[in-house]
Amino acid sequence: MFGKKAGKTPDFKKLEDLYYAAEDARKNAYAPYSDFRVGAALLVRPNEDSVLPINKMYTGVNIENASYSATLCAERVAFAKAISDGILNYDIGENPFVAIAVSAGDEEALPCGTCRQFMSEFAPEIIVVTKADNEIRIRNLKQLLPESFKLEKEDEIEEKAPEYKPFFESEIDK
Ligand code: ZN
Repeated sequence: MFGKKAGKTPDFKKLEDLYYAAEDARKNAYAPYSDFRVGAALLVRPNEDSVLPINKMYTGVNIENASYSATLCAERVAFAKAISDGILNYDIGENPFVAIAVSAGDEEALPCGTCRQFMSEFAPEIIVVTKADNEIRIRNLKQLLPESFKLEKEDEIEEKAPEYKPFFESEIDK
């Protein structure tokens, strides 16, 4: 039912737990302007041979800014934490990002358009867990963003990378 390559299908209980981790993270949100506090919890499952522990979780919160456009959403913060922690540098297998839960308390919070696009870069079929009317809701990002924007990656277009030149090369030669 869920992403085939994502390894074992996460069971509902685990996804529910992930949601409660997102809900718990909300307390750390920085939302002085909207008071709309959002928490996210990202479940990463490396492959079995990885040096990383199976099932790692990264939380995120929304971080607002006086200049509204500089605001960060909880989902992107969670991904940024995982990636800055080096998650992409380990042999973690295909589709290590299994699921992301998003909580805004009593209101259901689905990822905004920017976050959908952001997440599709790393996990186009990630499971998105929310809660509405007291029920856990489970969707696939592919449902939320059926045709994401994509660019061919450098190694896919077989273009030789330009030779790296130190910025101050001319100075170094002197
Ligand atoms: Zn967002």
